[in-house]
Amino acid sequence: MELKTDILIVGAGPGGTATAISALKKGGKVLIVDRKTNVGVPVQCGEAIGKTGPGIAEIEIPEIAILNPIRGFRIYSPNLTKVDYAKPEPDGYIIDRRIFDKELLAKACEMGAEALVGTNVTELLYKKDQIKGVVASRFGQKIEIAAEVIVGADGVNSTIAKLSGLRKNIKLKDIESCAQFEMVNVKIDDVDLLEFYLGKQVSPRGYVWVFPKSENRANIGLGIGGGMGEKTALEYLNDFIKHNSRGKEICKNAKVIEFRVGALPMGGPNPKNILDNLILVGDAAGQVHPITGGGMGYAIVCGSIAGEVAVDAITEEDTSEEALSLYEALWREKYGKEFEQMLNLQKLLTEAEDSLLDKLAQILSGQNVVELTAGKKIGIFLKAAAKRDKQLLNLLNQLRNLQLVQ
Ligand SMILES: Cc1cc2nc3c(=O)[nH]c(=O)nc-3n(C[C@H](O)[C@H](O)[C@H](O)COP(=O)(O)OP(=O)(O)OC[C@H]3O[C@@H](n4cnc5c(N)ncnc54)[C@H](O)[C@@H]3O)c2cc1C
Repeated sequence: MELKTDILIVGAGPGGTATAISALKKGGKVLIVDRKTNVGVPVQCGEAIGKTGPGIAEIEIPEIAILNPIRGFRIYSPNLTKVDYAKPEPDGYIIDRRIFDKELLAKACEMGAEALVGTNVTELLYKKDQIKGVVASRFGQKIEIAAEVIVGADGVNSTIAKLSGLRKNIKLKDIESCAQFEMVNVKIDDVDLLEFYLGKQVSPRGYVWVFPKSENRANIGLGIGGGMGEKTALEYLNDFIKHNSRGKEICKNAKVIEFRVGALPMGGPNPKNILDNLILVGDAAGQVHPITGGGMGYAIVCGSIAGEVAVDAITEEDTSEEALSLYEALWREKYGKEFEQMLNLQKLLTEAEDSLLDKLAQILSGQNVVELTAGKKIGIFLKAAAKRDKQLLNLLNQLRNLQLVQ
């Protein structure tokens, strides 16, 4: 079977459907393919998305995908000192990714996109050394799809990124390996706060998250840096639940109703995400926050930019790498510096002793952290608090060098 379209999007996750929606708004002709027969399943996500963060302006979150509004978060340092960052009003949501991904695909199709689920892209098609489409397998049948622009939105293990040479293999250290339980009967203190637990014993270069889905139900998971620590992600997660004093307390009567594993690209964006006739977005492009591992919002914003650039390039009959470089320029203008700073902060936090995180938490505990960070007063506050402490002053200087505090 041979098919033809203007914009072929490989992957119907948030990056792919956001690309489709923005291209369709500009009158583009779009085909989305996904190897899953049921997009969004299995869920490989903590399902938290910010309300004012990246992504929300570009798409409307489908109402039926929203499970729980969130006002902020509570960080537990290694010795379980609490620091709250909570706004008066909801600032984000826990969503149901099963519904979210499918509803965004439905929206794209209602707007005019064609979709082929159960379609696994395996090869790129070339004509005179130029990428001109893909080969896919669909229920045992081989199909060829020709397109003016191919968008690789096919996630962390992107086939398109590998085949095109834009990202061959992610280094082990740049992969975060994740394990997550969805649990009921969890003792949740504040249903509208996300909880994060830090510390080398809890999770090397990561954190445990407790994301409340309702008064007694939560996603409890963690990620560990590739090659770090002595145990698997699942073993660390079980340790938290069974042996950490707080983990034991909140999970005393909890029961696992779902187990999920997944991986995240934590090494920052690929050096390049475009070629002639080809664009990468989302996890395939490495557009994931190097500390939080949040990627939905970035995938949506960058996908939205990609959709517009692709339509304009097709209209101008120039889909060369040079024409598509506008996508690269626009998304890097928005997030390039942030990713760079957060990669440096990731390194700093990975190397930080647990005792330093405890000290920092001690200082910030009980403070109005929202106000301190919004007003950029945090530098002055930390300087005053760290007066006679060499370890904290050193940290403050490093944060200043990264231009994270003034
Ligand atoms: C455990 C875990 C927890 C997370 N928690 C959060 C969180 O709370 N908040 C947040 O913002 N982010 C979170 N993330 C990250 C977030 O899930 C991703 O960044 C986001 O899904 C990226 O969207 P995407 O569209 O780029 O890729 P994906 O959502 O991965 O979608 C890629 C799609 O491509 C399809 N595909 C792959 N290969 C092919 C192929 N060869 N042919 C056809 N189709 C293909 C897949 O089936 C999939 O549907 C988490 C990730 C993990 C692993």
